[in-house]
Amino acid sequence: MKILVLNAGSSSIKYQLFEMPEKNVLLAGSVEKIGEASSLVNHKIYQQDGTEKKHEENGVISGHSDALKRIFSLLLDAEWGVIREAKEISAVGHRVVHGGEKFSKPTLLSSEVLEELRKISYLAPLHNPANIRGIEVALEIFPDSVQVAVFDTAFHQSMPDYAFRYAIPERFYRENGLRAYGFHGTSHQYVSREAARFLSIDESRFNAISVHLGNGCSITAISNGISVDTSMGLTPLGGLIMGTRSGDIDPSLILFLEKHLNMTPEQVDKLLNKESGLKGLAGSNDLREVIDRYQHQDPAAQLAVEMYVYRIKKYIGAYAATLGRLDALIFTAGVGENSAFIREKVCQGLEMLGIELDQDLNTAAVRETRALESASGKVKILVVPTNEELEIALQTYPLLANQ
Ligand code: ADP
Repeated sequence: MKILVLNAGSSSIKYQLFEMPEKNVLLAGSVEKIGEASSLVNHKIYQQDGTEKKHEENGVISGHSDALKRIFSLLLDAEWGVIREAKEISAVGHRVVHGGEKFSKPTLLSSEVLEELRKISYLAPLHNPANIRGIEVALEIFPDSVQVAVFDTAFHQSMPDYAFRYAIPERFYRENGLRAYGFHGTSHQYVSREAARFLSIDESRFNAISVHLGNGCSITAISNGISVDTSMGLTPLGGLIMGTRSGDIDPSLILFLEKHLNMTPEQVDKLLNKESGLKGLAGSNDLREVIDRYQHQDPAAQLAVEMYVYRIKKYIGAYAATLGRLDALIFTAGVGENSAFIREKVCQGLEMLGIELDQDLNTAAVRETRALESASGKVKILVVPTNEELEIALQTYPLLANQ
């Protein structure tokens, strides 16, 4: 049974085709720079002998409809594809960034659901319209496939009100939906389940803090297998320091920028989302580059790394206090999976919480899920490679059974 996973952004569509329930990836790729002078298609097919075959092309792809048609033609291609007709795709799983309060589970797409999604688009104006466009086009191209929306916010819908509400009058929550929603939910859910499985702990009794450090960064407190707090809020801007996003700031900073420096809301939005974080502090959003400069005593890079790590530690301390008991600290995504340096700095000084890293295990070149704690450490420290696409396929698969 083949499940196509689509992640449509404003100028790109990423895709992966899975054979389920085996969880095998058959092919994967992306169309980038949609609508620009020259779009880029990257396509990879995983062959049965374990090798990969890569195909790249440049061309003009003017919109999401053209992009998905090109992906479809690659799926059908004699050399680069694996299907002969659209109906071999049993289901399409769509990543949708914001599900508001309405959607706390993977949801079968219908015209009513699409209408609801349009209504909550104001909560994620940069993401949801592109996700919806991807769904509309996929419904045309794969009319016989089951189509499912999987939401980045869904895993966090279990947060209690004292964690998700902002201390502003209730009417703004009731009338405008202004509350914390949290993001990266498919990643936090995937790695926490993987971690519980790895440790042979029943998920419903598993307490963990999962630290997702990629271009976007977020941290989640998981109590008895469910999300009870997370660092991103109404939008993916809050919380940790990220590649280009500020994370937490005093809200009055925005008022100052607007009132005293005459910046428009659009300028402030751009400043905090695209020009802040590591980029604002050290001139680059690539942490590898910032660490390299840190090691060459560049003061801006040193401050950026210290701030990045300090913020993560503060959240770990806060979440450990709210959870009471901590089974595991989980690192994932680009930085969390690959940077022994950042993991070491984050764990330094957290011995009081039972978090003790083993240096050799931390620096070992292993790719899969692994434990890094020292023999005397009370809390398991894990690296779990995230796989949001597989999680979307896993969440889409059960909905096929009801069709
Ligand atoms: P996205 O959030 O776009 O999915 P990733 O999870 O792939 O991103 O993470 C990308 C980030 O990971 C980049 O900022 C990159 O600098 C960082 N990164 C990858 N490998 C390392 C490493 N060895 N050390 C530090 N940072 C790394």
